[in-house]
Amino acid sequence: MDLMKWLGRAVDSALVWEASFGGYESHPDSIIGDQEFGRVFEELTERLGDSTPFFHPRYAGQMTRAPHPAAIVGYVAAMLLNPNNHDFTGGPATTQMEHEVVQELATMFSLPTHIGHLTSSGTIANLEALFVARQSHPGRGVVFSADAHFTHDRMCDLLGMPAYRVQTDPHGRIDLDAVEELVRTGAIGTVVLTAGTTGVGAIDSIADALILKERYGVRLHVDAAYGGFFALLADDDDKSLEWDPAPWRAICGSDSIVVDPHKHGLQPYGCGAVLFTDPAVARHYRHDSPYTRMFAGSPSHLGEISLECSRAGASAAALWTTLRVYPLRRDGLGTLLASTRRAALRFARKVEETAELTLYQQPQLDIVTYLPSAPRTLSGVDEISARMVAEGMSAEPGNAVFLSALRVDAADFGVRGHCLGTDVPNGRILRSALMKPEHELCADDLVTRIAALVPTDSDGAPS
Ligand SMILES: *Cc1c(COP(=O)(O)O)cnc(C)c1O
Repeated sequence: MDLMKWLGRAVDSALVWEASFGGYESHPDSIIGDQEFGRVFEELTERLGDSTPFFHPRYAGQMTRAPHPAAIVGYVAAMLLNPNNHDFTGGPATTQMEHEVVQELATMFSLPTHIGHLTSSGTIANLEALFVARQSHPGRGVVFSADAHFTHDRMCDLLGMPAYRVQTDPHGRIDLDAVEELVRTGAIGTVVLTAGTTGVGAIDSIADALILKERYGVRLHVDAAYGGFFALLADDDDKSLEWDPAPWRAICGSDSIVVDPHKHGLQPYGCGAVLFTDPAVARHYRHDSPYTRMFAGSPSHLGEISLECSRAGASAAALWTTLRVYPLRRDGLGTLLASTRRAALRFARKVEETAELTLYQQPQLDIVTYLPSAPRTLSGVDEISARMVAEGMSAEPGNAVFLSALRVDAADFGVRGHCLGTDVPNGRILRSALMKPEHELCADDLVTRIAALVPTDSDGAPS
């Protein structure tokens, strides 16, 4: 699609809408001339040159990509009108769109019933889920795995809830025996499971965890901020994806789910989402506001069921627009996710064939973790990995390769069969999030480029 054309049409449409309210006199102080603005614009665009190329296939580092043009046009078209999705009167159109996209997300997870809303991030969405967890099970704690996102520790601290961390298995999944032992003590009100850990992209065994809910009455919260959209592949029978549908089919049995449309949903930053299976949790949000009191109690006002007040209606419009082009179906957005999964499998296979690199563990999603093969000590792996990340991104733009580093504990190497001298307690390895369908086309080339970053004298001796 022609971005210039549709951005122009978005501006035209906003002007037509404005004109329908009749002309008015602009205050002279609010008028800025093109010449004056031109200087600012030059400086702005020059400064923005110092940005990271998330859009490019040679960027495969952190969990980020460029927004889809459909999302950009949807965002800008709405942002020009600046709707606020706090309450219905702040943005009737975008509030309706938010209800629709939240329904679509709930359908993607096969939730029988739901209540939910968009948030400004996965962090805030998880805060909301843990807030409801606290209100539902007062005085009880939260357990999550050592590989869960750091936000759970921090949000438990903020909410005054005891937090418990348990170890992971050799695949990076939460150890449910350790969870059950804790749950049996009665100290736990909520178990947090991660569907796509931020480090290695591991998927906790959600189906097995459902038994804990039945047996002990704990709440289950699924942090699928990163992995959530992979639920579109839940019913996939394409063997080439090497895919376990079980956790995705089990998600609908949980109490709350977080998913970030600004990760795998093609959105610009500022778009997370939280869903609850029990609509009655709305009672925990009850409050009295002198500004919007006339709406109190109506769930059509999203501010009645969210901790944030003002929120960009443009985020809802962007997601709504995107989901018209890429519906939440296997043959819609699912096609892009299947590509990223195939990219990771290809990338991992190529790493295994490459002498300079060793796979850390098999990818469960589209994140691949690996390390330089030569160093015999953990400090050597750490040093070479860090050097490769720095060197990859400091090359001239036409050749730069963007990786990320992941710090792992010494013991985690051993359980995955890596024999390294553990001379330091932990060390950095390499990590690539292959989030773009284009990565399927260039996975082999990327690995070749990364292998070339391994220093030829990398015997692990600190330099
Ligand atoms: C990214 C992520 C978060 C935090 O979400 P933000 O949108 O960055 O605030 C939380 N949990 C998991 C599993 C994530 O991948």
